[in-house]
Amino acid sequence: MTNRRTFIKISIAGAGAITLGAGTIKAMDWISKPGNGESVKVDLKRTPTYCEVCFWKCAGWVYKTSEGRIWKIIGNDDDQHCSGRLCPRGTGGVGMYYDNDRLKTPMLRVEERGKQVFRAVTWDEAIKYISDKMKDISSKYGPSSMALFTHGSGSSYLTTLFKAFGSENIAEPSYAQCRGPRDEAFFATFGEEVYSPEITDIRDTKCLVLIGSHIGENMHNGQVQEMSDAIDKGATIITVDPRFSTAAGKSKFWLPIKPATDMALLLAWMHELIYNNLYDKKYIDKYATGFDQLKEHVKDFTPEWAYGITTIKPDIIRRTAKEMANAAPAVIVHPGRHVTWYGDDTQRIRAVAILNALLGSWGRRGGFYRPAKLSVPGFALPAFPKPARTWQDAFPGKFPIASSPVSNALIDASIPENNPGYQIRGWVVNGTNLITTIPNQANTLKAIQNLELLVAIDTMPMEITGWADVILPECTYLERYDALRITPHRKPGIALRMPSTAMLYDNKSGYSITRLLAVSLGLKDYFPFEKQEELLDWQLKKVKSSLEEMQRIGVKNYEREADDLYYTDDENVSFPTDSGKIELYSKYFEDAGFDPLPKYTAFEEPMEGFYRLIYGRAPMHTFSRTSNNPNLTDLMHENSVWINPKVAKEWGLVSDQYIWLKNQDGIVSDFPIKVRITERIRWDSVYMVHGFGHKQKLMERCFGKGASDTQLITKVLVDPIMGGTGMRSNFVTFITEKSKQEAAL
Ligand code: SF4
Repeated sequence: MTNRRTFIKISIAGAGAITLGAGTIKAMDWISKPGNGESVKVDLKRTPTYCEVCFWKCAGWVYKTSEGRIWKIIGNDDDQHCSGRLCPRGTGGVGMYYDNDRLKTPMLRVEERGKQVFRAVTWDEAIKYISDKMKDISSKYGPSSMALFTHGSGSSYLTTLFKAFGSENIAEPSYAQCRGPRDEAFFATFGEEVYSPEITDIRDTKCLVLIGSHIGENMHNGQVQEMSDAIDKGATIITVDPRFSTAAGKSKFWLPIKPATDMALLLAWMHELIYNNLYDKKYIDKYATGFDQLKEHVKDFTPEWAYGITTIKPDIIRRTAKEMANAAPAVIVHPGRHVTWYGDDTQRIRAVAILNALLGSWGRRGGFYRPAKLSVPGFALPAFPKPARTWQDAFPGKFPIASSPVSNALIDASIPENNPGYQIRGWVVNGTNLITTIPNQANTLKAIQNLELLVAIDTMPMEITGWADVILPECTYLERYDALRITPHRKPGIALRMPSTAMLYDNKSGYSITRLLAVSLGLKDYFPFEKQEELLDWQLKKVKSSLEEMQRIGVKNYEREADDLYYTDDENVSFPTDSGKIELYSKYFEDAGFDPLPKYTAFEEPMEGFYRLIYGRAPMHTFSRTSNNPNLTDLMHENSVWINPKVAKEWGLVSDQYIWLKNQDGIVSDFPIKVRITERIRWDSVYMVHGFGHKQKLMERCFGKGASDTQLITKVLVDPIMGGTGMRSNFVTFITEKSKQEAAL
């Protein structure tokens, strides 16, 4: 089967007219003197960066005093990702640089795995150790027995290295643990993904539907700003969530749905739109296939049917469907981002995509705009060797529609008793704390014990570094160049990251680390530029810029080649699907052995005395990456568990009391968590922020603070379509300190 990703075309290929930012290198600013608060005028130097605290990659300016101290980080006014404003985490990014707990030198393990006994070594020794081991694994089992798990800006260099080495086992947990189902669902429907940042035209929308999507707590900067503007202009927000989230507080409709029943609501909305002629008939007739099958499919999915499943009243289902139809096509049923919930996630997001199609919002103002991305040439490299085996040969036939390697499949392929087609023997883990990112920690630890090599590249001593054979300490984003940020947006644009300040410790950038490894592995030809800035300057000159210009302006936006941000009324659009149309009925899924139209599945409900574990984000933290950041721990240093008052009363719990959580498999949280009693959560669920409960003692600020949701996620519902790990399938109960002691006996 040909993967849909190969059909993707991004519309803007060249550089058009140029919009220049007005940057200067020096600035004067008034700052308060520590102590007496008196204001003094100081010289500040500024350098451009783009933020690495989350994947939104907002471009900004780092200001530094003449003594070399970083003073502040602010947004770049010309940046489409942030419009000149950073979120609290982004402004707190400076804390990454000044965190005393950072990794400061390369280290080799000297005791058994997990005991965290290392010796400091030189970079030469660490690199030689890794390349000798990689060569040994390659000669014994083949290069595809090495796997890369990666996240963040360094991924592109390590990807090149791995491909040159002969392995395409390159997994980003952001696929199978986060956004993969939505990408595949939108590919299957429109032939195109929703990208990052998402191509949601929130600024011009008249109705935004959020299903388990917490914009505002999920601090996706541009979206938050656009949503706020849309609300000011009178847009209707409809939030579907078992929890009264921040977004729910801004909504005209809050639908506190019974968890795990979202599909029933989506099908009922489709029924309402179709059987009341509220859908965009002209758009569907012109652009879509499979409408008749869809109409027949949703015939019985009335609001009354959905009420019995979702607990959302029929009248509310009807009113919200009408609200969407009235706003159409300026309406967005948001595709979400972290959508790996119940294992039927690709199908659920297919339902979201179909709903958007019925409303005619794809390609329309206030719906989804057409993105443009600058084509920046890469330096011509030798061809990559064809890998003898790919990740799919480890478990033939599994996850046939996955367009990226599945991290959990690679972990499973590292455990011999799973009988993989071939075994993974070595991991390089870059910028992702696999222990807290991948559910079922026991499985990950079992895989680690079978490895012959585990390399961790990170800025902080995370849980994963404690299990590594070799730790390579990367410098923070404030100390390095990185690849140009080239992302699709309304206009094609680029942003530069450059060192803002001197390196504090014996660290290196991701590019330097990768090139050292390449040289040691005999793969230097894939990294012809010794210094990354030489490559950047070469690339920038190909797009009518230069390193010097980008150091001055930070962000450069180009004009679109055509005025085609939205479809015009008479436009004949050819969609990059097999049929050239929007596929309401998916032949693509059917041919792969999956339902061509999304179906509702009933999922297990919590047993007596247990509650569904729901997790989410806080605006001041990003996963577990920021939990030790001194600036951000000041804002939030632990998580709490939200419990409905009715449940708290039954259990005799009071606010601010510390309790332990125990899941359906008897796993008890390592650390206690504070109780927050609130009406904002349904009685059948509890909620906590992800990324706390760290067991890594080397992170002093966050060790033992709060509880880890990942530790309690031992039951995983894997999406058969693309391998995503459904993680909202776990239930917890409460234990007090006394029973915790009893549990430990
Ligand atoms: S949203 Fe915030 S943390 Fe993420 S890149 Fe932008 S400023 Fe940084």
